[in-house]
Amino acid sequence: MTVFTDLNLDKKVLKAIAETGYDTPTPIQEGAIPPALEGKDVLGIAQTGTGKTAAFTLPMITLLGRGRARARMPRSLVLAPTRELAAQVAENFDTYAKYTKLTKALLIGGTSFKEQDLLIDKGVDVLIATPGRLLDHFERGKLILSDVKVMVVDEADRMLDMGFIPDIEEIFKKTPFTRQTLFFSATMAPEIERITNTFLSAPVKIEVARAATTNENIKQGVVMFKGSRRDRADSEKRKLLRALIDAEGDACTNAIIFCNRKSDVDIVSKSLKKYGYDAGAIHGDLDQSVRTRTLDGFRDNKLRFLVASDVAARGLDIPAVSHVFNFDVPSHAEDYVHRIGRTGRAGRSGVAIMICNPRDEKNLADVERLVNHEIPRLDDPTPSRPVAAPTEADAEAKPAREEKPRRSRSRKPREDAKTEAEEATAAAPANTEADQPQATDDKPKREPRQRGGRNRGGKGDGNGRHEKIVGMGDDTPAFIALSFDERAKA
Ligand code: AMP
Repeated sequence: MTVFTDLNLDKKVLKAIAETGYDTPTPIQEGAIPPALEGKDVLGIAQTGTGKTAAFTLPMITLLGRGRARARMPRSLVLAPTRELAAQVAENFDTYAKYTKLTKALLIGGTSFKEQDLLIDKGVDVLIATPGRLLDHFERGKLILSDVKVMVVDEADRMLDMGFIPDIEEIFKKTPFTRQTLFFSATMAPEIERITNTFLSAPVKIEVARAATTNENIKQGVVMFKGSRRDRADSEKRKLLRALIDAEGDACTNAIIFCNRKSDVDIVSKSLKKYGYDAGAIHGDLDQSVRTRTLDGFRDNKLRFLVASDVAARGLDIPAVSHVFNFDVPSHAEDYVHRIGRTGRAGRSGVAIMICNPRDEKNLADVERLVNHEIPRLDDPTPSRPVAAPTEADAEAKPAREEKPRRSRSRKPREDAKTEAEEATAAAPANTEADQPQATDDKPKREPRQRGGRNRGGKGDGNGRHEKIVGMGDDTPAFIALSFDERAKA
């Protein structure tokens, strides 16, 4: 069995690794570190959770051990698709480079240019960035990439999903041809294959098994949900979520709740809070300082429920998450793997529970095909919902836009926030309840309002109530209740 000390890593790096308590490299580390240390290009096919961040940070720190950075000329570059992932890579550097004098800067959207400019001006060994922000700095003449010796592309498949590939190509072209490239992707889509063929030179390819989704550690289940009526379905779904959380009891120490749309992330989070659950939201439209604060709170166990979108939560490394709730079936089956992979980490057990609407059954079939097993059906813990006969309003309503087939994921470039917004617009109907911050049914229940005004003058009992007319429902306009004689008089 290989141990870290067998790898040719710098002593200072080995000391920092020893402090983390790890002694054996994971398969991607064992495969990638030796060729990376020899200066070869590496193509790592591995997803988050496999230890791939250390697979590139450890050799980079060793390789950069000698030499110094010049002003505005970083010696290495790590590109990550989201701010959170970039921040996570930066944390890894802090951990493993703590006994070295290497400097780093983090270039991500949502933070001030000034501070980052100052660091870059001084000269940094490692520059960790999201592609859009890096190009912004470059275009402002604040950055020179001609001294980059090692370039890392992390989560390339996600970059592709988010439309960053043109940016990545541009960045590749701005770095020296002689640079070393370490390239990581969970899958090898044709577009990724093209990029690697163009920009990597005789790479050593290391492929590690997909993190098992049938992971024995993760207990999975899905509840098939159908609202009693279209106008109640959203609030009933949130009620179901609360019941599922409650059913888990104390075993649910903390949980990430994934929604497909950012608007739902906000609504679900607000709704949970209203019902006394300790919840916070994270998605691409929120201010970076809010995202960081929420995430830190969740990491530090100050916040029990993190309601998240896929992009914002992608690759987050929070070791002890007891539960993942999928409020929606993800429309990209791959995302299911990423979502449930947030729990059951590092040998712990985890629970992943999903809610499936009738319209998401096709997505559920896609997920089951991908993970190659049927996800056990769970009972709905909420009292049964009578399915009402269609109301007049339902009958008149135009078919809901939600029922249309979803448009495919857009591939527009730049910040994750924009892409998520585009996704949301593509998938979410405007002006539905989902876009309203306060869902009426989430309010503590009240009696139906008296509509005495409309019945004034009708046949009543003297207390503002009127007699019901059989076949006319509860809300008969008053004039209908008058006899023809009375109407003529009126
Ligand atoms: P990553 O795939 O980089 O997101 O890493 C997933 C998790 O694995 C992180 O919590 C790392 O700290 C952890 N990890 C990295 N290397 C090792 C190792 N050699 N042994 C055990 N855990 C590791």
